[in-house]
Amino acid sequence: MNSSRTGRFAPTPSGLLHFGSLVAALASFADARAQGGQWLVRMEDIDPPREAPGAKAAILETLHAYGFEWDGPVLYQSERSNRYQAVIDHWLRQGLAYACTCSRKALEPYAGVYPGFCRNAGHSPEGAAIRLRVPELRYGFQDRLQGHFEQHLGTEVGDFIIRRRDGLYAYQLAVVIDDGDQQVTDIVRGADLLDSTPRQLYLQELLGLPSPTYLHVPLLVQPDGHKLGKSYRSAPLTAADARSQLLRALRTLGQKPPAELQSAQPREILQWAASHWSVDALPGVRTLAEASLL
Ligand code: GLU
Ligand code: ZN
Repeated sequence: MNSSRTGRFAPTPSGLLHFGSLVAALASFADARAQGGQWLVRMEDIDPPREAPGAKAAILETLHAYGFEWDGPVLYQSERSNRYQAVIDHWLRQGLAYACTCSRKALEPYAGVYPGFCRNAGHSPEGAAIRLRVPELRYGFQDRLQGHFEQHLGTEVGDFIIRRRDGLYAYQLAVVIDDGDQQVTDIVRGADLLDSTPRQLYLQELLGLPSPTYLHVPLLVQPDGHKLGKSYRSAPLTAADARSQLLRALRTLGQKPPAELQSAQPREILQWAASHWSVDALPGVRTLAEASLL
């Protein structure tokens, strides 16, 4: 183990672990361990109103029952507010970030791209949302699976929120600060986050961080192409199903577990996954219909 690579799994505790997040956990785990690297678990618990009671402990218990072992203690984003606020204060002083008091209604006609109304308004940050000024530039990267992906931050994204009006920190900000502080080198996650990545590249640039490598695995969707429905998402993975769900997750990732594994312990399945991890075998698509997995 003398690799300096580090991967991570970063669940949001808005519900229990479901099959889609098992796929992301397994992919990031296998990829990190295949490189002899570290694998971290980080709890992205920065939105308490959306948190399911008991979800944090239940997610960790399920990971444990499924044979996952992570390096070091779990990092909880809820304990990191001072760190996030210090970054925001710095950018406010530099004029890179600014307070925005626009109502949702006032922004409705702009289809999600902020029109810059408050850019030079000099509002007080108290009780206001904080937005980051974006440059009129394209930010792109080479995904290990999805190929080149880029966005024009000015016209496709706009100045985006890094702290909400209610004081909660935005996912985009927290994820980049934490990946930087935890020295994560290899990000493996669901393809729903592909279009967050250009924003995150810009945040890394502002923070002087090296860019990690990215691998966005297919997002599981319903046969009609819609996101997995709530009833499906809330169907929790049970410890009793560990073996069959891990094998199913491996097949979803295009890996070909041998028949012997059908009687293996979860930990052995994970070992097999790491030692046979093949990025080339992954389905190079952004979404996979759930019906095709059955
Ligand atoms: N917490 C995010 C989620 O569960 C994942 C963040 C990431 O991997 O960058 O969707
Ligand atoms: Zn505004």
